[in-house]
Amino acid sequence: MELTPWEAFAVGMLVGPFVMLTVVTLVDEYRFKKEERLRMIYAPVCPRCLGYIPNNDTPGLYPGALSRADNHTEICSECGSDEARLHFLGRYVQPRTEWPITG
Ligand SMILES: [Zn+2]
Repeated sequence: MELTPWEAFAVGMLVGPFVMLTVVTLVDEYRFKKEERLRMIYAPVCPRCLGYIPNNDTPGLYPGALSRADNHTEICSECGSDEARLHFLGRYVQPRTEWPITG
């Protein structure tokens, strides 16, 4: 099957935008994954549970919580909630010396 130049032009006009959209989407996805990988490499690690800060779903995206153990060390959101819960209930809040990374 051979297309006349006008037919080829018409097919190009119909298919072109979809090809462009696919290319733009793929490039965008590649950039997003690259950013995500870089974030995971440089994301801080929680010294209390060894997970990422602020959480394992979005490592390094925003700051974590301040630990109640010393009011200075940054920990992950989940550990922050855990310490707050323990503190509220008047339970024992692990001091830094009992964490996996004592610093
Ligand atoms: Zn943690």
